[in-house]
Amino acid sequence: MGAQAQGTETEQPQTPVILISIDGYRADYSDRGISPNIAAIAAEGASAPMRPSFPTKTFPNHYTLVTGLRPDRNGIVGNTMIDPRRPNAMFSLGDPHQSLDPFWWDEAEPIWVTAEKQGVRTATMFWPGSEVAIHEMRPQDWQRFDQNVTGRQRVNAVLDWMRRPADIRPRFVTLYFDTVDTAGHRFGPDSEEVNAAIRDVDGEIGYLREGLRVIGVKADLVLVADHGMRATDDARVIQLADILDLKSFILVEGGPYAAIEPAAGTDDIVYDALLKRHDHMDCARKEKLSERLHYGRNPRVAAIICIADPGWTILAGDPPYPVKGGAHGYDNEDPQMLALFAASGPDINGKAPGTFDNVDIYPLLARLIGITPLANDGRDALAKAIVRK
Ligand code: AMP
Ligand code: ZN
Ligand code: ZN
Repeated sequence: MGAQAQGTETEQPQTPVILISIDGYRADYSDRGISPNIAAIAAEGASAPMRPSFPTKTFPNHYTLVTGLRPDRNGIVGNTMIDPRRPNAMFSLGDPHQSLDPFWWDEAEPIWVTAEKQGVRTATMFWPGSEVAIHEMRPQDWQRFDQNVTGRQRVNAVLDWMRRPADIRPRFVTLYFDTVDTAGHRFGPDSEEVNAAIRDVDGEIGYLREGLRVIGVKADLVLVADHGMRATDDARVIQLADILDLKSFILVEGGPYAAIEPAAGTDDIVYDALLKRHDHMDCARKEKLSERLHYGRNPRVAAIICIADPGWTILAGDPPYPVKGGAHGYDNEDPQMLALFAASGPDINGKAPGTFDNVDIYPLLARLIGITPLANDGRDALAKAIVRK
C-alpha cells in the first residue's frame, strides 16, 4: 500500500491505529468513576463488555486479540503449555528460551505480521508474541518485555513514533500496561491498590491523548483487556494432593483452571480420580469439553481440563504464590472475567452492540488499518456497527 494517500474524500487517509491493552482491567472497573480518560474514549466512540476466550489467561487472550483465532486454533493454549512434538519442554512466560521460540507461535499469524506483508508499517510497545519472529517477521519497531519500563516511558515511545514523518510513521501500534493485573493478583479486584493502578494507567491514557493532540496526529484508539479478575482466598482451595498422588500427574497449569497430564503409566488412576464429581470443580477429558469453550482439539491442550467454580483455586501441593488476592483463568462465561473494550477516533462512529467475543477485535482492527484479514473466528458485526462508512 505504501505511504500514498488512498483517497481524496477524507483528510486523513493514514490514520494510525493504536491498540492498547490494560492487562486484567475487568469490564466493570469503568463503573468506579475513577478512569475519566477511558470514560471519555467510550463516550466519544463506542464501548461494550468483551467476553474473553477460554482459558481466561494473558498469553492466550492477547494472541486471540491479534489473530482473531481462539486459543485452540492460535496455538497459545495457556500461559504454560506442553507439546507432544517437543517432549520434555514446557512453554512458560518466565522462560524466554521457550517463550521466544517461533515454534510456539507459528500456528497463527498476528496482525502486525500480516500488515507488514501488506506494506503497512507496524510498531509494538510490548505485546505477547511481538518479540518473536513469527512467520519470520517482527514489527519494524519492537521492545523486549520489561516490567520496569514505566507506563510514562511506554507512552513516550509511542508518541516518539507518532512524531515521525508520515512515510516512516507506523500505522499500527500496540501499547501494553500490566500494573492493573499485578495489583489485582496481589490485593484482589476490590482493593485500593487496584484503584490506584486504574487511576495511574488512566492518567497515562490521558497523557497519550494530550500528546497526540499536541503533535497533531489523529489516531484510532482501541482499548482492550485480556480478561477480568476475581477475588480468591485460602478458604476456597481444591487440593489435588487430597485426590491423587502428586507423582501420578503433571500439573501443566493450576489455579482457576487446571491442565493435567497423567504421568506415564498412570492414566487410568488419574482419569478415574478426576472425572468423578467434585465439589467446586468440573473436570473433563479434553475431547469432552463443552463446545462453547472451543477448546481441546489442539495437541497442546493437556489430557484433562478442570475448571474451578468462580473464586476457587486448584492446587497441587503448595501454591507457587499466595492464593489470597485475585485470579483469572475461570470459565469465560463468568461475568467477572469480562474485559474492557472502548474505541474512539476519526474512523469510529456508532454504538457497539452488547457483549461480544474477543475474536471480533481482529476483523475490527483489519478494517481500521485497511488490510485484508486472514481467515479467523471473528464476526464482522462489531466492525460494521462502529466503523464509520
Ligand atoms: P498472568 O499470569 O496471566 O497474570 O500474566 C500477566 C503477566 O504476564 C504480567 O504481569 C506480565 O509480567 C507478563 N507479561 C506480559 N507481557 C509479557 C511478555 N511480552 N513477555 C513476558 N511476560 C509478559
Ligand atoms: Zn492478563
Ligand atoms: Zn494476571
